[in-house]
This record gives sequence, structure tokens and C-alpha cells, in this order.
Amino acid sequence: MAGVHRGPSDLPVHGRARRIRSPQPGDGHVCAGAAGLDHPPHAGRTRVHHGGHRSRRGRARGDDLAALRRARGGHPAPAPAGDRRVLWGRAGSRFCPFCLADSGGRWLVAWRLSWSFACTRHHVLLVDRCPACHRVPRLRSHPRRETPRPGRCSSAAPDGGPPRCHHPLTDTPATAIPADGDLAEAQRLIDTALTTPGRPVRWPLYGPDGAPLNVVLRDAKSLGVLVLNHATPDALGPLAPSDVLERLERYRADPLPAGSQRSPDALHGDLHSHVAPGDAAATAVAVTAAFRILRAENIRSAARAVQWLTDRVAASGRALHPGNVVALGGVISPALEAALRCSRESKLMPVARLRHRTGVGSTRPPSDRDNRACVLPTALWPEWALRLTPRHASGRPAAQRADELLAVACLLAGNTTPIHAAVRLTGTTVSSHNVSTFLATLTRHPNGADVLHTLIVLADHLDAHGAPIDYIRRRALFTARPQFIDARAWLEMQRWLRSNPGPDAVHAQRWLFHTITGSPAHLAHPAIAPATPAQRQHYQRFRWRILPAEAELLHHTARTLLDEHGIDEPVQWAPQLPVHALRDLQLPGPDPYSISADRLHQAVPGSDFSVAQLARTLETTTAHVVHLLAQHPVDWSPPRFRRTQRTANRSAQWRLWYERDHLSLQAIADREDTSLAAIRLALLKNGTRLRPAGSYPGRPRRK
Ligand SMILES: [Zn+2]
Ligand SMILES: [Zn+2]
Repeated sequence: MAGVHRGPSDLPVHGRARRIRSPQPGDGHVCAGAAGLDHPPHAGRTRVHHGGHRSRRGRARGDDLAALRRARGGHPAPAPAGDRRVLWGRAGSRFCPFCLADSGGRWLVAWRLSWSFACTRHHVLLVDRCPACHRVPRLRSHPRRETPRPGRCSSAAPDGGPPRCHHPLTDTPATAIPADGDLAEAQRLIDTALTTPGRPVRWPLYGPDGAPLNVVLRDAKSLGVLVLNHATPDALGPLAPSDVLERLERYRADPLPAGSQRSPDALHGDLHSHVAPGDAAATAVAVTAAFRILRAENIRSAARAVQWLTDRVAASGRALHPGNVVALGGVISPALEAALRCSRESKLMPVARLRHRTGVGSTRPPSDRDNRACVLPTALWPEWALRLTPRHASGRPAAQRADELLAVACLLAGNTTPIHAAVRLTGTTVSSHNVSTFLATLTRHPNGADVLHTLIVLADHLDAHGAPIDYIRRRALFTARPQFIDARAWLEMQRWLRSNPGPDAVHAQRWLFHTITGSPAHLAHPAIAPATPAQRQHYQRFRWRILPAEAELLHHTARTLLDEHGIDEPVQWAPQLPVHALRDLQLPGPDPYSISADRLHQAVPGSDFSVAQLARTLETTTAHVVHLLAQHPVDWSPPRFRRTQRTANRSAQWRLWYERDHLSLQAIADREDTSLAAIRLALLKNGTRLRPAGSYPGRPRRK
């Protein structure tokens, strides 16, 4: 008779529950060592329904043990404390009155799990208590001296009556739920997962490899606890029928009615944090709400799904900063932690958003990323500063020295380093306060979140691929240098190129410092750094009005300087991200590559021009045009100077041909498709000693 009352498959979890919390005298010897969740309750359920034959039961038990061993082979058995959390320990058992009626009073092992709240065969919530004595059934094992009565309540009757309640539980009314509703779906998911507890749960939130079942259930439990403590009935409305929600509200008003075993832990922290809900309706809504979040497509969408809940938690007065979202729900998976953090993104301090990389839904905790300073220039690369700098409607940057602040922000992504240390590492002289203010400005900007996102992607790209330039070495070698180009050489060239050449070579020095180190000109040696706003403005103008011949000379000079230091790196560089990395992002500045050098050059009129006019022609911002002109110098000089410009460009080559290769002036003129006089003048101007005419008698003279 005992076999009917308590099927053999019932025993392991039954015993497990005893070890967890409730005294079950007399059962311990049967099931010591059985691990609750390693036991597949679905299999147990099927066997209890159809079992009964002795040999069949024996085989079933053998299968269980084999499954247990298999499960343990793949995954080490979790510690008892972990089991307890996963099992969401509760005492006694729920039941489906219809299943009890169908099976002649057999109890399913799965009903003992707090995760079981509904019968997916009969589409009802499981019943928590005997309607007559209001006790949780099977809290204690049945006394051996009394004969169990299948399908009837075996709890002790209230004082003064018969020893047992014996109410027919099969007559208990149960709350119906929609067969295809969210609650039934959640129960089916749980039943399926518990059937193969060793198999990872492959929900998209947990990445391609999925997560172990106990991790997913722990997440669901943590979220469920938040739901029970903080959700409003309005928010839960779409999840469950109104009578289920009414039961939930009654339960929440009096969460631990008589008969529950109050855990001493429950006195601390959240009311519901350690005790499984004593009401199937509460469990059903909590688990279903949790699954809605955990079944999101990715961390960002899980964040959107959980935002109503974390907003409620925050409204309750709990401080939520990145450090303690974890404390919200006990130990949770990195994926859920990231989703909770992302859900609070707009409320997080901007620097925390960078450190925790919320923009990309990161699960990676911040770590030491100071090495990135080697591959970061002091001022973010012009290409990226153009795209990422927020600007006022006038086109003026929303912050001074934005390119330096952006570089610091890029170093802070995923990094634990303090702001003042990041400032020092990038070589800038802005203050920590400047950085914080700038980040706050960014987060107020309509595209600020996308700027932070891009900085994180850039940082990840640098961490993964590095850079061909060691900016720390460049800064160390060249920051204190007062001169980069021989002023006479520069001024000599100026006379060739410009009708009103500049008085000195200081802009050229600035340009070389700026280009070689990646640092803004105002951080150069005091001898060349622009000190006043007017000087800075003149230097900016110099950069975009530079002529191709000038740029060529300066690049050549920069290359030579690097060679002299044995630096085998490109003069300049900027990271390129794959196209998809920035898809769907709205950045404050234009894509620098959206206008080609050819299109720029076609748009420039033959002579002088204004940047504003050019921006209108190219339908972009003046900042974009300034950037393009600095990158792809345009020959805007009048025709007279354009001729001489070509001469200036080529005269070094002509001299080489003339002196080293002994070509004649005429041969050079033919080769260059110009006049002999032009070649002759150019060589004379750059100091070449001309040979007397006819000094190579064998060479044919032009008639
Ligand atoms: Zn049922
Ligand atoms: Zn009863």
C-alpha cells in the first residue's frame, strides 16, 4: 500500500526536500544522496501514471540512476546550497485534483518543486492547500501505523476532531488558465527543461552556448522575487487572467499565511527572497514574468523587457548603480546582470556606462585596460572626432577640446582606471571635471548614447587589433621638441607657392608636431604651441588651406624624422571599423568618407573659395569640409602659382635627373611635357649648378 501512496519515483525529490528544509522522519535512509534536479520529474510523472508493476518500477529506478550518473558526468553536482536556491525550496506538495482523480490518488514528484504551478494536461493552477483544513498537503510523511487513503488529505485534523482530515482532495476547485496562454507556456518550458536537466538551456539571451539549467532557473527566481516584491497589478495585467492576478494580490497582501514555515532568512532583505511563494498563482505570475524577460533575443531587448521592473525597484528607493544591480536578486548570470544594468542605462553615471559598456549590452565586468593608451592619440583621430563631436546648431563643438575628451572617454571604455589616471595616460591636460562634464553633455545629446556606443566599439577594436603606431613613444620623443623643419627650407618653398608667403615656419612646425604625435598643437613645445585663440584659429586655417606641395614637403619631413629615430611606422593612421559595427547608429557628425577626394577637388573653384560655400555645394558641414581639405589638400592657387606649384613639386626630382642621371634639360622637359626654360629656371632657383651647353658631345641637340 505504501507503493501506491508514494511511488518510488517520488522518493528522491521527496528526500531532497527533506534535506532542504522540512522534517520527514523515516525517509532519509531511502534516498540519501539523491540530487533533486538531477532527477527528471517528467519521466517520474509518466512512470507514476502508468507504473505499478514491480519489475517495471525496478527498471524505471535503474534508468533514473543512470540518468543521474550521466548528468553528473557532464556537470559536477552543484553544492547543496546551490541546489537549495535552484529548487526554490518549499515544503509539502501542490496537486492537480483532476490528475489525482485520474490516477487513483497518486502524487507526482514534480508537484513538490516550487517550479510546478500549473497542470498542463488539465490547464489549471495546481492547488496549494486542502480546502477543508487549509494545510499544505504532505508536509510530513504519513504515520506508518495508519492506513493512507489515496486522494484524501492526510494532514492532521484540527483539534477535537478525528486524527486525519481525509477531505477528498479530488473535489478541490482549481483556478483555470488558458491552454495557450503565457502561464501554461511557462510551465511547459519548465517541464521540458527539467526533463533534461543536464542539457544547457539555449535561450538567445545566454549566447550561442546557452546556459546550464540551474543558472537559468536562478535568474528566473531572482526576477520572480523582484516581480513579487515590486510589480504593480497594472504591469502584470497582460500576463495572466484576472482571477489569477486577484489571487496574487491576496497572496502579496499576506505572503506567509499560517502553515508556511517561515525561514529566519526571510526577515532580512526582500520579503520574498528566500521562501518560494506559497501560492501557485504567485509562482505562476512571477515565473512567467521572469521568462518574458529571459527569453528576449539579446541583452539589449531583455533590458527593454525588464525596464518597467527595475524602474519600480528604483522607485521604491533602492539605489541602483552598476555595483549593486547584482544585489537586486542574489547571484545572477552575467547576461541577466548586463540586462538589468542596461535597463538602468539612462540613469547611470555616464562614466559607468562606458566602464560597463552598457551600449553594447556587455556581460564583461570592467578591468584594467590602461594598455590602450599606447594606441590612442591625445586627440581622438580627426576622422572620429568629426563623427563623434556633438555640436551646437551653429556648428560650434558642444565642448572645447572635444577631441581630447573623446580620447579619454575611449580609454575609459571597459576600464577600471580612475578618470584622472586616464587623463594622464592619454597625455592631455584637461581636468577630470572636464571629462565628467563632457560625458554628461554627451548623455544629454540626442545621439549621445550612440557616441558612447561607438567609443566602446572603437575601444574593443583597438584592444583586439592594436594600432601600427605607438602613440606613447611618439609623445615621449616629440612633445618636448621645439623644431621639426628647417625654417629656411619652408620659407624657400613658400616663395615658390604663394603670392604672400607667411612670415615664419611656425605653422609648419605645429603641423608636424600635430601630425607626428596625434596631439593637438597647443600641447607642443612653448616655442611653437599656439597660445592665444587667434593663433589657434590661424593654425586651423593653415591646416585646411595647405597646398598639395606644402603637404607633400611636410609629410616627407615627418617621414624623415621618424626614420631618423628608427621608427618603422606609418606617419599617420586611424582605425577603420567594419561597416556593420556602426549600422543603425546616429552620430552627431557626418561620415568623413561620404565625400571622396575627387568630389571635393571638383567642387573647389579654380581660385580662392570659402569653406561655408564649399560646405553648401557639397551639402555637408563646414567641419567636414575643413577635415577633407586637411586630408586631401586642394590646389586653390591662381594659375600663375599653380604652374610654379608643379615646379616646386617636381624640382627636386628634376635636379636628381640632371645631376645623378645626367639627363639634359631638354630630355627632362620632354619627359615632363614642359618647356626647357621652365626646367632651367627651376634648377637655377633651387641652386643647381648648370652644365655648359653641349658638354655631352655625343648627345643629339635639338634643331
Ligand atoms: Zn492535472
Ligand atoms: Zn485537509
